[in-house]
Amino acid sequence: MHLARLVWSPRLLEYDFGPGHPMSPTRLDLTMRLIEALGLLDQPTLELANAELASDAVIETVHDADYVAAVRHAGSTLEPDVARGLGTDDDPLFAGMHEAAARQLGGSVDLADALWTGEITHGVNVAGGMHHAMPGAASGFCVYNDAAAAIRRLLDRGAERVAYLDLDAHHGDGVEAIFWDDPRVLTVSIHEDGRTLFPGTGASADVGRGAAEGSVVNIPVPARTTGAAWLRAIDAVVPAVVREHRPQVIVSQHGCDAHGRDPLSNLNVSVDAQWTAQRWVHALAHEHAEGRWLALGGGGYAVSDVVPLAWAALVAEAAHVPLERGSELPAEWRAAVEAMGLEAARTLGSGEVPFRSWRDGYDPADAVDRAVQATRRAAFPHWGLDPLLD
Ligand SMILES: [Zn+2]
Ligand SMILES: [Zn+2]
Repeated sequence: MHLARLVWSPRLLEYDFGPGHPMSPTRLDLTMRLIEALGLLDQPTLELANAELASDAVIETVHDADYVAAVRHAGSTLEPDVARGLGTDDDPLFAGMHEAAARQLGGSVDLADALWTGEITHGVNVAGGMHHAMPGAASGFCVYNDAAAAIRRLLDRGAERVAYLDLDAHHGDGVEAIFWDDPRVLTVSIHEDGRTLFPGTGASADVGRGAAEGSVVNIPVPARTTGAAWLRAIDAVVPAVVREHRPQVIVSQHGCDAHGRDPLSNLNVSVDAQWTAQRWVHALAHEHAEGRWLALGGGGYAVSDVVPLAWAALVAEAAHVPLERGSELPAEWRAAVEAMGLEAARTLGSGEVPFRSWRDGYDPADAVDRAVQATRRAAFPHWGLDPLLD
């Protein structure tokens, strides 16, 4: 039986860096309201579970114990610890920081457990995807790396191969760093080129090290890349390496800040294109991993017209509920958005995004194609794949 689980707790809204910070809890609030207004919570294929606090021992499977102690201390005294990224412009301190971040992480780790035991087929944590957090430091609005902790839990339970697919506009540097030396974990990140966007890493030449060489795949795309080109890039790389890696579980990060209206990136990837990518990741999980799919949120700062749409579509996808592209969004949801003084989207996307498959040919005059080809040249030989022909 196919079952998707969404983890949620209103207490996840307490992950709040304060007024004016891009990562406003409103984005999660409006996402959950849209999921509810679309009737997804009434579907028999979707269950809702509480996001529970992770213990220190669980957090310490990917973070240094002294960092966890420092987060707890900073979140109670509000004394900055800049060397650990706590109390910076990106990661200002707030009361209860440890607990809020531990709940994000607990949600993802519990889903990993339920996937591995077969209790559920798909898991979604829209509050997760904190891919920049490093073992000993907060970074890029991320305090605890729930994505890495979920992967670690799968490995600890006996998984031999896990694939991590990161669709956020920013490079998934924390997850990559944590599994840099681990051949069991394939990390693939498509992101805006580090020369124009935080965190500056994620070059195509970075492929992992030693026995793990090839297990890191980076697709840095240029600023202004469109949805069609972004899909073409994903299609040219992801299915091939996933097929070779043969993951038992797919963990994906669906940061939706690659959107053209997102204030923090320079990419131009529509909700429709992001939706198509979600569908592809879902299909890969069924094709290669007996369906085991853990889908996480991530970045996304267009709080009323992009994030709720992208992640409601993600939850519907995981629950196998077909939503019609271009359909009117529920009036009560739009009214709630407008009551907050925000602008609400009118429709859920507008239609399929036509894209050209890589098989139709490589265009060396195109900047995205050149970036994709650089990735294929760097990564494919490690998998026995031909950068030109596969
Ligand atoms: Zn991001
Ligand atoms: Zn499915």
